[in-house]
Amino acid sequence: MKYEPTLAFARKLDTQDSLKTFRNQFHLPKVKGKQAIYFTGNSLGLQPKSAKVFINQELEDWAALGVEGHTHARRPWLYYHKFSKKALAQLVGAKTSEVVSMNQLTVNLHLMLVSFYNPTKTRYKIITEAGAFSSDQYAFESQLKFHNIDPAVGLIELKPRVGEFTLRTEDILKAIDDNKNELALVMFGAVQYYTGQFFKVREITEAAHRAGAYAGFDLAHAMGNVPLQLHSENVDFAIWCSYKYLNSGPGGMAGAFIHEKHASNFKLPRFTGWWGHDEPNRFKMQKGFVPMKGVDGWQLSNYPVLSGAAHLASLELFEKAGIKNLRKKSILLTCFLEYLLKSIDNHSQHFKILTPGVVGERGCQLSILMKRDGKKVFNKITKAGVIADWREPDVIRIAPVPMYNTFEDVFRFYEIFKQALN
Ligand SMILES: *Cc1c(COP(=O)(O)O)cnc(C)c1O
Repeated sequence: MKYEPTLAFARKLDTQDSLKTFRNQFHLPKVKGKQAIYFTGNSLGLQPKSAKVFINQELEDWAALGVEGHTHARRPWLYYHKFSKKALAQLVGAKTSEVVSMNQLTVNLHLMLVSFYNPTKTRYKIITEAGAFSSDQYAFESQLKFHNIDPAVGLIELKPRVGEFTLRTEDILKAIDDNKNELALVMFGAVQYYTGQFFKVREITEAAHRAGAYAGFDLAHAMGNVPLQLHSENVDFAIWCSYKYLNSGPGGMAGAFIHEKHASNFKLPRFTGWWGHDEPNRFKMQKGFVPMKGVDGWQLSNYPVLSGAAHLASLELFEKAGIKNLRKKSILLTCFLEYLLKSIDNHSQHFKILTPGVVGERGCQLSILMKRDGKKVFNKITKAGVIADWREPDVIRIAPVPMYNTFEDVFRFYEIFKQALN
């Protein structure tokens, strides 16, 4: 598309936007009484207005039914994890039996590592991206130590080439091949939280499998941001949270994907709980764990319904909008932002966009590396009503999300940002 740097043009794109009605389904935060420009859906997605309705329904059923709500609530609590399966399966490109909503992201990461990281004397290495989200780093480190492996030896963190900010796929594939005799697991953030790089899930998975290792992905920044095809791409497992692009509320429900090919592999080690036990016999409370087939067999606890209700409210909107349509708009929004930023006079003296310029290698986020006065600029745009994200030492992350952001938001941000640079 040929863009123009004008408000009129931004408004024209908004009029043509087939998803424009979704914005009104959300509560939009205000700064000093004025509607904020909210670009932190990558950190905490906005509240769907329907979240209150969904949560209230459960509060009413709890009030009216007490324990009977497990079977007689309008959405029976016993089966609550099932109500999100269809929407989650669409988002990650999986079968409903391959996805489940449960726990928190880091908990799920540990559960998956228990099953898919079983180092031997010869195969013990994990390959991941350098600068992974801290929680993932800590989880890897503790798992390695749990198996008596020195993280300095067992964990390979791939860095971009000198002078570059994101990893080249060829370098990732080469590192996997170079370590093929010792490699146990390859795990990347599908979309990197800091740089916004969308890694090549299929290629990385194929390379991991060629090397005889498992391939897993952290979808924290991919879920609801980019369409995924985990089943056909043969990914072994994935995990995610839902409070970022999935708008399911602070600390909201996380989830996991395990490929069908592992559904009946009951030899995989796992940490277990009663909610993963054979459903028809769960309440017999008998000795001897019998896992359910598929990812459901990794559940630990009964479902947190109030948090799950907000999750369902949001997932309903994703089903209505469709992840493919969201992605189409997302590409236009982010390309418009990129176009405007690059139209600023002498922009390369002020900042550099770290995120890949290739559309297929990024989601909606652009990470702007500030070359001078980064924090000052950030404080100025914050004062002017932009809610963005500052990452030490010098990066501003901007995430225009297709569900509720507009082209006008992007244009207004550009004007504020341009002013702040001077
Ligand atoms: C947001 C995020 C987390 C957060 O983990 P929680 O267990 O939800 O607190 C972990 N990893 C990545 C990559 C993230 O982006």
